[in-house]
Formats: sequence, C-alpha cells, structure tokens
Amino acid sequence: MPQLSTDVLIVGAGGAGMYAAIAAARKGASVLLVDKGQVGRGGATIMAQMTVAVALGQQESDSIDLHLADTIQAGRGLCNEELSTLLCEAGPKRILEMDAWGTRWARENGHIKQEMAPGHSVKRCCYVDFLNTGPAVAATLRRKVSELSAIRRISNLAVVEILVRDGRALGAVALNLIDGELITIQAKAVILAAGGLTKLFQRNSASANMGGEAYALALWAGAELVDMEFVQFFPIGHLAPRLVGMDPIMWDPFRYKLGGKLLNGQFEEFIDRYGSSDFGKYNATRDVAAYAILKEVEAGRGTPHGGAYLDFRHIPESQLRGAFGPVIDRLLANGIDLTKTPVEVGPMAHYHMGGIRVDVNMHSRVEGLYAAGEAVGGANGANRLSGNAITEAFVFGERAGSSAAERIQQTARPWDEETAQAALSRLDTLQHHPSSGGPTPIALQAELQKIMWEQAGPFRTADKLTAALARIEEMQRRDLSRLRIGIERRFNVDLHDAFELRAMLTTAEAVVRSALARRESRGAHQREDCPASDETFLKNQVLEIKNAELASRWISPIRLSRAESHNG
Ligand SMILES: Cc1cc2nc3c(=O)[nH]c(=O)nc-3n(C[C@H](O)[C@H](O)[C@H](O)COP(=O)(O)OP(=O)(O)OC[C@H]3O[C@@H](n4cnc5c(N)ncnc54)[C@H](O)[C@@H]3O)c2cc1C
Repeated sequence: MPQLSTDVLIVGAGGAGMYAAIAAARKGASVLLVDKGQVGRGGATIMAQMTVAVALGQQESDSIDLHLADTIQAGRGLCNEELSTLLCEAGPKRILEMDAWGTRWARENGHIKQEMAPGHSVKRCCYVDFLNTGPAVAATLRRKVSELSAIRRISNLAVVEILVRDGRALGAVALNLIDGELITIQAKAVILAAGGLTKLFQRNSASANMGGEAYALALWAGAELVDMEFVQFFPIGHLAPRLVGMDPIMWDPFRYKLGGKLLNGQFEEFIDRYGSSDFGKYNATRDVAAYAILKEVEAGRGTPHGGAYLDFRHIPESQLRGAFGPVIDRLLANGIDLTKTPVEVGPMAHYHMGGIRVDVNMHSRVEGLYAAGEAVGGANGANRLSGNAITEAFVFGERAGSSAAERIQQTARPWDEETAQAALSRLDTLQHHPSSGGPTPIALQAELQKIMWEQAGPFRTADKLTAALARIEEMQRRDLSRLRIGIERRFNVDLHDAFELRAMLTTAEAVVRSALARRESRGAHQREDCPASDETFLKNQVLEIKNAELASRWISPIRLSRAESHNG
C-alpha cells in the first residue's frame, strides 16, 4: 500500500507550488507539498530579484486590457488568450493578497511603486527593494504555508513518475534523496509545479533543480505539452567575474536606467552593426542584443568568457550609488567595482514559454493531473514580457490549488497496487545497474547541456537540431541503460542525477523536435536557416507520446473576444 496519502499532492514548492498549497488547504483539502530541494527555498522563485508585472494602476493609469494587449503583442500571435487573460486579470488580486500577507512591496507616497520594463506600455512592475523580490515573496509564502496545518511539507523528495490508471492520476512515485529509496504516494489530485528547464542548457540563469522534470512527468503520464520550442534566452546574463548570491539577470534595468554600454572584446560599441540604433538610447530589443553579442563572439571579437562587456565606467560614482543603492556594496563584496571594471555578459537560457497544456483551471487532459507556474505552457506565446513569470506562478498556483481541491471534494482516494508495483519495478532497473562500464549520469548531463546550448540554443538550424536529436536518442536508447551509479544508497547523488537525466532527455527531445518542426523564426525561436516569420506557422504545436514516440500536431491559438482588438 502507498507509504504516503493525501488529497492533493503538489510537486515543487516554488511560488506556484506554495500558492497552490495555500489555495487547496483553504478549500479544505489535505495537502502534501514536496520538493527535491528545500521547500520554499529552491527553484527560480527565490532567485528572481527583479520585478512582478501587474496592472495595479497605482503608479500611473493602467488596465487589465492594456496588460493583456502588451502580453499578447509580445507573444507574437501565439498566446493562449484564456490563460493570458487569467494571468492579467487575477494578477492584481494576488499581489494585493501578498501585500496583506506581509510582502513589503516598494512604496512611494503610500502607494505600491511600479516601474517601466521593456515591452510594457506603462509603469507596471512592482518589486521589493533592493533586488529582493524573490526572497521576499518566497518568505511570505513559506510563512503562510507554515500557518496552515492541512499542509504537510517534505523536502529532499524528488517525484520521478506520476501514477496513472485508465487516464486518471492516482499519485506518484518519489525518490527519497536521503536514503535512496523509492516511495509511493496516493493522491486524489496531483499538481505539477516543478518549474522550468533552464538546466538543459550549458549557459543558464539558474540551474539547480530546473531540469524540466515537470514536462517529462506530464508527457509520461499521458498529458500534452505545447510550444516547447519557445525557450527564452536572456541577452545580457552575467558571465564574469564570479557573482555569488545575486541575480545573474540583474543588469537589464541598470543598463536602461543608467545607459550601460555594450562593448565587444575590443571595447567597441557594436550593436549598430546589427540593425539597431542602440547608442545613446540603450534600447536594442532582447533578440537583437542576443544576436549581436553571439555574432561578435563568433567573429572572434568576444570577451574572455565568450560574451560582451557591459560598461558603467563613464557614469559618476554618485549616480551609480543612487541607482544601485546597497547593491553596489554587494557587488564590491564580490570584487566588482563598476567604476573601474566592466562586467562580462551574454545570452543564457532563462525561462520557458512552452509547457504542459492545461485548461483555464490548470487541468491537463489526464483526470486529476494539474500544472502551475512555469510548468504551464501557452500564456506568454512565443515570448514573455519581463515580470509576467512571477505573476503567472502566483495566479496559476492559486487557480490550480483551488480548482483541484474543489473538483475532488466528493471523490475517494484512488489507488491501484498493480500500477504502483509495475512503476516501482520499472524504476528500480534505473537504480540498480549491473553495468559499471557506462558513463556517469553527471557526465551525460554535462554533454546534454553542451549539445542543447550549441545546437538548440539561441540560434538554430535544421542541421544542428538534427544532430542534437540523434545524440539525444542515442543517449536514451543506449546510455541510459548502462549508467555507472555508485552502490551506496544514502546520499547517493548519482541516483538523483540518473533520474533527473532520464527526465532531462525526454524534455530535451521535446524541445528539439518542436524546434525542428517550426521552420520559421518567431519570438524566442530563431532559425538561422528560416530567418523570417511565416504566417502558415501562426499555430501552436502540441506534443504527446503516441506508440512510445513523441508525436506533434498543430492547433490554432486560443483567441478571446476580449483580446480581439489587440490581435492585429
Ligand atoms: C535568476 C532568475 C531571475 C528571474 N527574475 C524574474 C523576475 O524578475 N520577474 C519575473 O516575473 N520572473 C523572473 N524569473 C522567472 C520566475 O522566477 C519563474 O518563472 C518563477 O519563479 C517560476 O516559479 P515556479 O513556482 O513555477 O517554479 P520554481 O520557483 O522554479 O519552483 C519549482 C520547484 O520545483 C522543484 N522541483 C523540480 N523538480 C522536482 C521534482 N521532480 N520533484 C520535486 N520537486 C521538484 C524545485 O526544486 C523547485 O523548488 C526569474 C528566473 C530566474 C532563474
């Protein structure tokens, strides 16, 4: 029989998972909130130090419709407008709720202060000073979660498979990362809130626990994914010098505010070579900036770490201190003196627009299986506006938790021992390899990251993607079954890496296959061999497992009349 039992099992305890837990508990459900890291302290949420986009209209006049219009425009025709509308409509409510729960949003004359960010028409982005948004919201949610006795929290538990029988989720199998044992969990509903996939790429803005497991778990369970080709690459992520405990994408607002110069390895401004008049304005769009930096590197004019310099040396120290506040001292503690040294920046994988296909209640096509946060695909189409991801985590988390709890109220906890035992024996073969001659899981993870960065990264071609796919398939077919795993059970990181690798490979395959099939460039998906956008691809791509293989089909984007006027 299952070792653990609950009404709602939540996989992942970042912003989305914690919000889902709170919402489900408030509706009377018992909740098990598990995380492979520390509950409320892992994942992207706690790392996001910048801004949250919501149409509060406290700084200047704004509306839900305007936020929606900006979101849809950024999504280049591919937003699921049901989900975008939910994001924009419920965002203000969640931010005010967080305010009431104690998040100290930066204020000005008593109102919540909101700033401008690229792609937004008005000052819409709120934050917690100074570069403290993620840690502050995570702390608020952790406190709230700990106040609710219906929520049980377990850290160091990695969910490795969702149990499904006859199209209905029954619970999950999880790996206890302390003792290496697999355990079974019974649940009326499972919410996948396990975040994004940036770990698939060698260069990323955050990697621990972001191997795209939510997507793989969903696919294996019989759910569909959507828009998997749309990985957002942030153009000026921090490369060097080493920066500890700070957000690697922190430079953007300072660059805009202060006019930081982007220089190549020869200390020349270069953006104008790539069709943008950045000089004096510093407003090249993210795709142009990313393209320009990578092309300079390719031409041998990169910086030592393969990027560009971001230079603030022309700005007086008093002005730097005014804009950076205490952050300037945190930089100094990292050995970075902006008055003397430029920093090195470059494009890196940052966020995933694609993800699990859900309805407006966050329900997948598998009965009882929900998703929330970055794990969900569709709300941001082909490109995400800055600040929309935290809003998405809160809004979709709340919606998933409350709708799951409502839907299961009258149902009994399902279980099928045969399904559970079959999963356990299948997973056990990954755990106990007779072979010791194969590669270690971590070596394969590193190889996969390199392949994904070089062949499925910011600039793709059919040739590069085909080569990536061939090696991914080989790893799945051959290498996964002969991994070299240490025999110790307790604290065996190989075991964890092996399970993570298995999921990473499935998710990487989903990204690469989708990128190959979209023979155009749109938003975050840039094909050097098909550089223009093509109207025939104004469609979303849906993936599912059919006959043990990934199969894709195209569907028309979901449009709503509310957003109709903005679609032109
Ligand atoms: C450096 C950085 C800065 C960012 N800045 C901003 C910003 O300023 N504004 C903005 O809107 N967005 C920002 N984003 C994006 C935003 O932070 C994320 O999209 C959002 O926080 C995702 O929340 P989530 O709850 O869905 O996932 P996460 O917060 O990533 O949480 C997922 C959790 O799932 C756990 N997990 C993963 N796999 C498993 C498994 N198999 N079993 C159990 N647990 C598992 C992880 O340990 C993790 O705790 C930033 C992202 C990064 C990386």
